[in-house]
Amino acid sequence: MVLMLIMLTAGSMLAQTTALRVGNLVDPAAGTVATNQVILIKGSLISEVGPNVAIPEGTEVIDLSSAWVMPGLMDAHTHITLDGLSANMSLETLFLRATTAMRALLGLKTAQDILKTGFTVVRDVGNDANYAAVDVRDAIRRGWFTGPTVLTSGKIIGPFGGQSSRISPEQGPFWLFEYIDADSVDEVRKAVRQNIYYGADCIKLVADNSAFYYTLEEIQAAAEEAHAAGRPVSVHVMGGEAARNVILGGADSIEHGFHLSDELLELMKEKGTWLVGTDFPEAHLKRMMYPGATEEASRIIDRLKRAHKIGVKMAFGSDSVSNLPGKNRGDMMLDYLDVWQAAGVPPAATLKAMTTSAAELLKIEKQRGAIAKGMAADIIATPASPLENIQALRQVMFVMKDGKVVKHAP
Ligand SMILES: [Zn+2]
Repeated sequence: MVLMLIMLTAGSMLAQTTALRVGNLVDPAAGTVATNQVILIKGSLISEVGPNVAIPEGTEVIDLSSAWVMPGLMDAHTHITLDGLSANMSLETLFLRATTAMRALLGLKTAQDILKTGFTVVRDVGNDANYAAVDVRDAIRRGWFTGPTVLTSGKIIGPFGGQSSRISPEQGPFWLFEYIDADSVDEVRKAVRQNIYYGADCIKLVADNSAFYYTLEEIQAAAEEAHAAGRPVSVHVMGGEAARNVILGGADSIEHGFHLSDELLELMKEKGTWLVGTDFPEAHLKRMMYPGATEEASRIIDRLKRAHKIGVKMAFGSDSVSNLPGKNRGDMMLDYLDVWQAAGVPPAATLKAMTTSAAELLKIEKQRGAIAKGMAADIIATPASPLENIQALRQVMFVMKDGKVVKHAP
């Protein structure tokens, strides 16, 4: 009896019920809107959705009757523990100066900024010192801090030297704090296993950062090891033969792919390879001192246009690594909407890439990315329809994460 009472109390404490009165409920998978709906949330999950949902007495009711409501946004390519440019130091200087503890604190702050902007899931694809993003993920998961769902890749696996640019041999391989050198099929397998052991949710390779790029067999080895453990493989690659190896080797996604030809995009479509295009706006490339920023920015728009036309599966990813004055990381991520717009991608397709499609790539589509019974209550709202103008996502005024209201600016 005493036990039952305790269980009942615990149960009622856990299952706090909230109801959202929704004027316009957006379904990103279908690109449709249902009007005058009620979403009932118990604890962290959505328990009912529909036009005639009865609201139990004592339920907290939140009025979003003049808003557009949709699942939280997702970014499949972030680096939450990086912010070199705002601190006016190159990333290599940051790698040398900041401790893993400091990087984790930076990651937590960045993740919280991102959540308030409307992104409820981020995938961190490495450059997190000694697994700092794993710690950020776990601290949020334990409920110590409010934050988005963080999925992490651990250290980036690459050919000798990672993404560093020729350090003097006397300095030693300092990049090993951020990368795992893997230069054969067996070393790639071991690197994947090492990352999974230290808590990675996914695997990230850099295929073509130097003169030597990964062979078909090396990509296949990474995919085999990662898939056996239920982890997707994402690979940084720009185009050419390196990209062909990535596609044919069975990687789940190409990251960047700025120089992909139509033929390779067709091959991606055929093989079901995702494109996480990290479609940088020109202003961001300039800020990063990217060589030939203007030309590269127009190449990126052109590649996005072609990928959409060919019908390659696309998930939104920004690769934003710094903040500009007056903008937090989430704002920086939303700047990419300009590029999707410039490429002529319709708002519904862009929103899908930021929700349903990203969830599928990240293998969390059974828990997140849709507003339906049994799904996590990751919900955002905007004052205008993102299906008419995708820029409405810059005005997210309501954010609920796992059933908790994080932001509500009526
Ligand atoms: Zn990146």
